[in-house]
Amino acid sequence: MSTEGIVRGYDFMDASSIDEHVICAICAHPFIDPVVTPCDHTFCKTCIKSWFDKKSECYLCRKGGLSMKALRPANHCMMNILDKILVRCLACEDENIRRGDFADHLENHCLYHPQKCSASDLKCPWVGLRNQAKSHHSACVFETLRPAFEDILTRLHTIEKENKSLRSENNDLKEELMTLEREYNELEGVIKNNEEHGHSRRTGKNVSKSKKSSDYAPERRDKHHHMFSSDDDKDETTRNINTHLPATHEGNANASHKHS
Ligand SMILES: [Zn+2]
Ligand SMILES: [Zn+2]
Ligand SMILES: [Zn+2]
Ligand SMILES: [Zn+2]
Repeated sequence: MSTEGIVRGYDFMDASSIDEHVICAICAHPFIDPVVTPCDHTFCKTCIKSWFDKKSECYLCRKGGLSMKALRPANHCMMNILDKILVRCLACEDENIRRGDFADHLENHCLYHPQKCSASDLKCPWVGLRNQAKSHHSACVFETLRPAFEDILTRLHTIEKENKSLRSENNDLKEELMTLEREYNELEGVIKNNEEHGHSRRTGKNVSKSKKSSDYAPERRDKHHHMFSSDDDKDETTRNINTHLPATHEGNANASHKHS
């Protein structure tokens, strides 16, 4: 009996009849997931992979500079020969199963291959034989609770969706807040300019030479001067601006009060 057979759960019906061209030189068994090197040598994928871990050359002809990237899958003809090799199931002792169908045998037909519960998707840990599965299924707590589980999952899904839309709404609000902050800073700048402008007018300084005020047209200067013609008016304007800003600006608003 081959080690491959024990690992895979089968034995070959007639090992001596297997074509020597489909035998892997590394493991000495019919190829599994065969791959072909650029020098045209075929190996099992896992066999050549562990060989490349030691040496980057062909196991047979020693051609160098090889890696997994240089390999191509074996052709259909080779796959057909491998699939047709007849095996015997070690669990149920069924015979003459095509090796290509063996996975299907275990999954859907073998009476003695351990099966998972149909509620394994709900994390039922039960593993047993196919002929015991029926009695487990009728008593399986997970299967009984399936409608409740599915209801919870549906609600969870809805909550996740709502959460996602709330997060995007939150982002929109953050952007709006940033815009408001920018507008606030601009207004604050205008107020400061006006304060300096008003102050220099009162103290008789030459406004046109002041760098900050030089960009203002004369009529605008007059308008601003009119707006802040007295200290009371100026405070009133600052208060009005502050009232229109969100609560988070309180810190900034207070700071501007101190300045004015
Ligand atoms: Zn091999
Ligand atoms: Zn080679
Ligand atoms: Zn079987
Ligand atoms: Zn179960």
